[in-house]
Amino acid sequence: MPNSKDITIVGAGLVGALLATLLAQRGFAVTVYERRPDPRVAGYAGGRSINLALAERGLHGLRLAGMTDTIMELAVMMRGRMVHHRDGRTELLRYGRDDSEVIWSVSRGRLNIALIDEAAKAGARFVFDRRLAGAKFGDGAALRFEDEAGETHDIRVPFAIGADGAGSALRAAMNAESPLGERIEPLGHGYKELEIPSLTNMPESALVPDEASALSRGEVFAIEPHALHIWPRGNYMCIALPNAEGSFTVTLFLPGEGDPSFATIDSPAAARALFERDFADALPLIPDLDKDFAENPVGVLATLYLDHWHLGGNALLVGDAAHAIVPFHGQGMNCGFEDAVELADLFAADSGDAAAVFAEFERRRRPNAAAIAAMALENYVEMRDSVADPAFLLRRELGRVLAQRHPDRFMPRYSMVTFTRMPYAQALARGAAQEQLLRELTAGKTRVDEIDLEGADRAVQRRIEPLAS
Ligand SMILES: Cc1cc2nc3c(=O)[nH]c(=O)nc-3n(C[C@H](O)[C@H](O)[C@H](O)COP(=O)(O)OP(=O)(O)OC[C@H]3O[C@@H](n4cnc5c(N)ncnc54)[C@H](O)[C@@H]3O)c2cc1C
Repeated sequence: MPNSKDITIVGAGLVGALLATLLAQRGFAVTVYERRPDPRVAGYAGGRSINLALAERGLHGLRLAGMTDTIMELAVMMRGRMVHHRDGRTELLRYGRDDSEVIWSVSRGRLNIALIDEAAKAGARFVFDRRLAGAKFGDGAALRFEDEAGETHDIRVPFAIGADGAGSALRAAMNAESPLGERIEPLGHGYKELEIPSLTNMPESALVPDEASALSRGEVFAIEPHALHIWPRGNYMCIALPNAEGSFTVTLFLPGEGDPSFATIDSPAAARALFERDFADALPLIPDLDKDFAENPVGVLATLYLDHWHLGGNALLVGDAAHAIVPFHGQGMNCGFEDAVELADLFAADSGDAAAVFAEFERRRRPNAAAIAAMALENYVEMRDSVADPAFLLRRELGRVLAQRHPDRFMPRYSMVTFTRMPYAQALARGAAQEQLLRELTAGKTRVDEIDLEGADRAVQRRIEPLAS
């Protein structure tokens, strides 16, 4: 049975749909079961963030699927972080060296629909309105689905791949069969989405004179479109990512307890007072703050750790179902797309032994998923706090200088994660060695020109291994 070219995927989200595309393009007979209705017919029924940052790892998967042109048409380039200080000053911290090192904001719904379209074009079969309700394993997988009317549909398949997201039903069934070593660590902070409308949709009363004249010139973005905006405020922050049609999705991240937190900021009036105090330049841009705050739920954030991702050759987890992470490196989907590429390659090279494919997939991907989980947690502190910290900014500046002087050895960790496909675990280890060096070189200093760069050069040569070409 494991020799079968039939592959069953649960979940037609971002990772499930890309995996279906890559496998169908390689000649596998793929069937995907999805609990939601077909978004191509019913419209995309959101859930998580409205837009996401796409970086090199994700782009690579889309490239292999032949989808870059389609997706780039939907994407907005983000050159760096636009930091909004309390006093209203803004400052662009570039992500990379130039416009060849940028990230892209894409609509989750449009990306998901494009992926489903592509997978269907390649021959994958989608069965919508099928919620996995339970599974039993042993010489294959027996899956029970429920449709919206509550009717059950049972199937038996050689194996099932769970791409059903952080709350995976397949994972729950696998865990019941044989414990996977599941640990879910809540971040203790949540998020709420708000919106800066495009200038064309901004109520006239909310337009300031600059915006009114920008609109008359045909511009649609109320703030710089080619940046990921951040309002870092210590223990909490707001961010905003551009959408292709001119709006921005704003995400307010707050702790669950303390002040301010979602416990104290629990009404539109409290949110307005918080924005007046801490995000004063953003407030006039969010005309529907009260409504958005009242209607949009508080999203929870957590990291999922598992000791095992597969049950022999009967079932395997991929994407968020295996390794949901916090969103602060913008890598959850990017990492899941790497999963899809790796798994499709393994299936294509497979000798027919599903258990061996799943074990090899877990061996290759699990250390990397753990590394990006750790880096994503660290990045929350960097985004909400460090980007306003002079010592951090000095280390960052020196890091850029060293990267220019030693392009063969020194690369900022953000760049390794975002602009390369170096395994995450390697980026984590190299980043730790570089950070230690930067801390030593900047100790007691306030400016780069106070640092002995020739001594720094020698230290880089001695302590940082050459990058693989
Ligand atoms: C606020 C926020 C911002 C983020 N920003 C970024 C970013 O900028 N960049 C980035 O790379 N990542 C980002 N992420 C992470 C990204 O959203 C996830 O990593 C990505 O969605 C994982 O894809 P997936 O296909 O594994 O899971 P999902 O996208 O969750 O898809 C799971 C699919 O399975 C279906 N499903 C669920 N249960 C069942 C069931 N029982 N039966 C059948 N189908 C089922 C769901 O309907 C869904 O279609 C962010 C996440 C959050 C929460």
